[in-house]
Amino acid sequence: MPARAPEAGEALLETIYLSIDPAMRSWMREGAGYQQGIPLGEVMRGGGIARVLESRDNAFAAGDFVQARLGWQTHPTLSARHLQKLDLALGTVENWIGPLGLSAVTAYFGLRDIGGLRPNDRVLVSTAAGGVGQIAVQIARFEGCQVTGIAGGAEKCAFVANDLRAHAVIDYKAEADLTAAIGRACPDGIDLYFDNVSGPTLDAALAHLRPNARIVLCGRMSQATAAEPYAVRNLHKLAAAHGRMQGFLVFNFHSRYDEARTWLASRLRDSSLKQRLHILEGLEQAPAGLGMLFRGENTGKLVVHVRDRPA
Ligand code: NAP
Repeated sequence: MPARAPEAGEALLETIYLSIDPAMRSWMREGAGYQQGIPLGEVMRGGGIARVLESRDNAFAAGDFVQARLGWQTHPTLSARHLQKLDLALGTVENWIGPLGLSAVTAYFGLRDIGGLRPNDRVLVSTAAGGVGQIAVQIARFEGCQVTGIAGGAEKCAFVANDLRAHAVIDYKAEADLTAAIGRACPDGIDLYFDNVSGPTLDAALAHLRPNARIVLCGRMSQATAAEPYAVRNLHKLAAAHGRMQGFLVFNFHSRYDEARTWLASRLRDSSLKQRLHILEGLEQAPAGLGMLFRGENTGKLVVHVRDRPA
């Protein structure tokens, strides 16, 4: 599609990075999800970072970096009302798609506001090497928690242990009995489980709850491609632990994104926070990239690099 010249109140942008997120799969399905499906023939929805090429709004000028729902396109023309200028004092353009991006913000609110994270909690995090998970592991560690990460494969587990410095790691793909493996890794049980996968992993975590445990329902990777929904068997353990389980959508914390980013930026400045990006080159890689998430082929927060930015 050719680029459209901006009208009053709009800006023409050049996309630099697009974030590739598991939720995109549900947006392509018919029926009611948490967001309306994308009609056939429309531009694929997706957030990212762009540079302003031409602006017809006083709040933006050519050369500004912004984040927005750009869609999978190289040169979107959007209303200035839907753009947020990047505060480069907080971090670089790459930081804004990574450790200051929505995955990191999701980990921040999920752990703190939904999970009620407390120092010394015994915390379990699934998809620990992924975009949300790797930040969740680190936030919990910064709070003085005992952190166990679950990830698929030796390489991801080594990253979670050595780079993110989780106290224990479980390679769920190498374990025949995940419930037993969690028992070995978390011998004193779990105060907080940050659940990105649901299904059998949720069941296994439920078997190890400590009194007043909290489960944060962030995502359901194991169920997105499952032929049949998994029936969780251990819910009664939540009652026995006097625990609670709560889901959330990060978008509901929109008015507090700045708070999360200020906190994350402070951890970036002292170099304690890391985020590994998995960067695909070229917009044409976006559809294949989405599939990679559901096969565990991404080795970090997955992004597509669309256009270079001027140095
Ligand atoms: P990610 O963790 O970077 O990538 C997805 C990972 O899921 C894969 O790398 C893979 O890791 C794992 N996976 C794939 N298929 C699986 C299966 N069948 N069973 C278990 N694990 C599987 O993705 P992300 O963007 O950070 O998102 C992580 C979760 O957070 C997703 O569930 C997403 O929907 C959720 N999320 C929620 C919100 C919210 O507002 N609630 C916002 C953003 C993201 P392994 O190789 O380790 O298996």
